[in-house]
Amino acid sequence: MKKIVLIVMDGLGDRPNHVLHGKTALQAAYRPNLNYLASMGINGMMHPIKPGIRSGSDTSHLSLLGYDPEKVYTGRGPFEALGIGLEVMPGDVAFRANFATVDSNDVVIDRRADRISQGTDLLASSLNMEIEGYSFKVKEGVEHRAALVIHGPGLSSEVTDSDPHEVGKKVNTVRGTDESGTRTAELVNRFLESAKKILASHPVNEKRVKDGLKPANQLLLRGAGKAPDLEPFGKKYSMKGACIAGIPMITGLCNMIGMEIIRVKGATGRTDTNYEGKISALIRALKTNDFVILNFKGTDVAGHDGDPLLKKSVIERVDRAISPLKDLLEDTVFAITGDHSTPCSMKDHSGDHVPILFATSGNLRDRVRHFDEISCMDGALEINSINVMDYLLQLSERSDKYGA
Ligand code: ZN
Ligand code: ZN
Repeated sequence: MKKIVLIVMDGLGDRPNHVLHGKTALQAAYRPNLNYLASMGINGMMHPIKPGIRSGSDTSHLSLLGYDPEKVYTGRGPFEALGIGLEVMPGDVAFRANFATVDSNDVVIDRRADRISQGTDLLASSLNMEIEGYSFKVKEGVEHRAALVIHGPGLSSEVTDSDPHEVGKKVNTVRGTDESGTRTAELVNRFLESAKKILASHPVNEKRVKDGLKPANQLLLRGAGKAPDLEPFGKKYSMKGACIAGIPMITGLCNMIGMEIIRVKGATGRTDTNYEGKISALIRALKTNDFVILNFKGTDVAGHDGDPLLKKSVIERVDRAISPLKDLLEDTVFAITGDHSTPCSMKDHSGDHVPILFATSGNLRDRVRHFDEISCMDGALEINSINVMDYLLQLSERSDKYGA
């Protein structure tokens, strides 16, 4: 059996760009190592989720790891919480939240508390508490945004929002939308009572009032979602898995399925990440793991910025960093792809398919010699992301026989 490495260059796929004389960033990049790996294996195009779906990084990574998002994706709440760095475990309930200003009658005066941006970390951490054995954790996001995660047995996301979604309206009492939500609603209301008291006398708010700013004296909750009950990765594949990524959404997701999370100094989740450090950590991780997923976020960041030259340079840095992997083909299977396309011309995710390579020694090879969107269209494969794990399992001699 061979080890497996899945390298995801986030948002890798692109479209022809006039800045690059009609080439994609990947086509324009100097990428001898990616090309070498492509020439050592089977290549093709991968549909993120399935043809024509414009996927997010959360649904795409779920699918790449073999968890069908159409069955397990339960809405943005839990994944947004993961994205801002809250731990979310199967069965937890997560809300999106706003720091807001309410008057003494709980009527909303400002849904964003004067667009608060300072001190929300202190406000959030002051709201971490336990109620009857249920833990409540709050973390700040960008500006007035935050998330709440509740951990404990028997929780339900079948509850209403406390957020009235309008200024001048009273904060709603949270209610269960069915029987299962009653208990959760009761716990959330008790949490909000305590939160109100804590925020009212919080030094950050006292200072805001002194400075003539509205206090962030309540948390408005919306969009409850229950974290999916995902089968642990180790059990699903009989493999020990590890994850190396600079962004909390990916490490959080992998943590949720029981993977080892490997932290790398200087892994920022941006274009200035520690490329070599991540690859060194990957090589070390292979000694104690059967499977390692590694995410480089910089390609997606450059795509959202609409900067093809930056995207090209991120790809070139990845290419340089992966050079040592060429020596591991004997006992490792490599897959390299993107989780979706983030065309610089679109500054957002598209539904295009993305190039993928599977490389290992002793396997079949197709005629593809260059790793890019156009060359890989001539490759042997066209697959959906949900099938990538199966393909890796069989290349690594780990798959069970289907039939006699
Ligand atoms: Zn992505
Ligand atoms: Zn993106």
